[in-house]
Amino acid sequence: MIWNEKMECMELDERKNLQSERLKDIVRYVYTHCDRYRQKLEKAGVTPGEVKSLEDINKIPFTIKEDLRDSYPFDLFSVPQDKLAEIHVSSGTTGNPTVVGYTKDDLKLWGEVMARAFCCAGAKPGDKIQIAYGYGLFTGGLGAHYGSLEMGLAIIPCSSGQTKRQLKLMNDFKPRILACTPSYCLYMVDEAKEMGLDPLKSSWEIGVFGAEPWSEAMRKEIEKTWNILATDIYGLSEIIGPGVAQECTHKKGLHLCSDVFYPEVIDSKTGKEVKPGEKGELVITTLTKQAFPLLRYRTRDIVSLNYERCVCGRTTPRISKITGRTDDMIIVRGINVFPSQIEHVLLGIEGTQPHYQLIVDRKAGELDELEILVEVEEKIFSDEIKKLRMLEEKIKKEIESILGINAKIRLVEPKKIERSEGKAKRVIDKRNI
Ligand SMILES: [Zn+2]
Repeated sequence: MIWNEKMECMELDERKNLQSERLKDIVRYVYTHCDRYRQKLEKAGVTPGEVKSLEDINKIPFTIKEDLRDSYPFDLFSVPQDKLAEIHVSSGTTGNPTVVGYTKDDLKLWGEVMARAFCCAGAKPGDKIQIAYGYGLFTGGLGAHYGSLEMGLAIIPCSSGQTKRQLKLMNDFKPRILACTPSYCLYMVDEAKEMGLDPLKSSWEIGVFGAEPWSEAMRKEIEKTWNILATDIYGLSEIIGPGVAQECTHKKGLHLCSDVFYPEVIDSKTGKEVKPGEKGELVITTLTKQAFPLLRYRTRDIVSLNYERCVCGRTTPRISKITGRTDDMIIVRGINVFPSQIEHVLLGIEGTQPHYQLIVDRKAGELDELEILVEVEEKIFSDEIKKLRMLEEKIKKEIESILGINAKIRLVEPKKIERSEGKAKRVIDKRNI
C-alpha cells in the first residue's frame, strides 16, 4: 500500500514543477516572516524575486547548525510564538540545545510523512504498533505517534526502556510493528530469552528502525534473531523529526518525501552539487513548513541520491543509508553528542583541562557505552582519591543534565591523552556499525 500515491508516484517533471513553485513560495515566506532569514538572504544579495525556479536554488545561502545555535531560542522561527503547537529540542553543538517548533499544520505534515513511512515499510491500517522510541523532547516517539494516528494504527506508546514490560506487552498484545532504535531491538534479545520468550516467535513482523546509523550486518542480525523485516527510517529534528525518508520493503535506499523536503547532495568542501549517485553531504530545504522552515540546511549526513523509479512504484528519490558525517558528531543510544558539548561542560568545571576523549563502544547484545577520559591538573591528580571521585561525579552529573546521557568518567594525568600533530583525537568509536 502507498499512503499518498499522488505525491509518492508523481511523474518526475510534475514533481519538479511542484518543487519549483513551492521553493519560490517558501523563500518569499521566510523573507517576509523571519527577520533573521531576511538579513541572511540580504547579506547574500538574494531577494525572493530572484528565485524563479529550482535552478536558482544555488543563489540561496546554506543554513548551518551554527545558525540555529546563534538564533536560540526563537529567532529563526517564521511564526509568532502564539501560533506554535509544539516545541522540541535536541542537542546543540555547545551549551544551548537546538530548538524546533511546529504549527498545527506542521504537525499534520509530520503525521502525513510518518504515515507514508509506515506504509512504505509495509504497515496496514488496523495493525498494532509498539512505539519504543523515547517520548518527550526527543522527536522520535511523538513523530511515530502522529504518523500512526494518521494512518490508523493501534498505538502501544511504550516509549523507551522498561524492557521486560515491553516484551510482556509484545507477547500479550501481539503488535505487528516495532519502532525503536536498531540497537535497542538487539538489546531486547537477551531479556526476551531470560523471560523464556523465543525471539523467533515474536509477534513483530516489521521493524522501523532509526535515530542512529546502522550497518547491513546489523540488519541481518536483527532479521535473523527476531524473524522480522528490518527497515531504516531517516530524519532529523531540524527538518521535522523522523519521517524525512524511509525504506520500502525492497530495502534499496530510503524514499525521501521530496515534494516537501527538497534534497541536494553536495561536496562538503566546495558546496557544489555532486552527480547523481555520488556521495556527498545531504542538504535539505523544507518546502512547506510554517513555524520553522529551513533553506538549504546542511545535515552533515553523508549519502548518495538515486532518482530511478523503484520497483515498489514510488518515484521519490532514494537516499543511501547514512555512511558517515562531515562533522565529529556521534550518536550514542539515539542521542546526538558533539565533542564540543563535552568541552563546554569541562570548561565550566575547575581543575579539568580542555583535553578529553570520547570512547564509544557496544558489546554484543548491549547498549552503547560512552566513556569520557578527562585530563586534570597535576595538583588535582595528586590529591586524595576521595576528591578525584567527587570531581568525577560532578562531571558525570553535569554531562547527564545537559546531554541526558549516562557516561563513565575517567580522570587521567595531564598529557595522558595522545595528541597527533598537537591535536587530541576527540572521538574513538569502537562500535562495529
Ligand atoms: Zn521502493
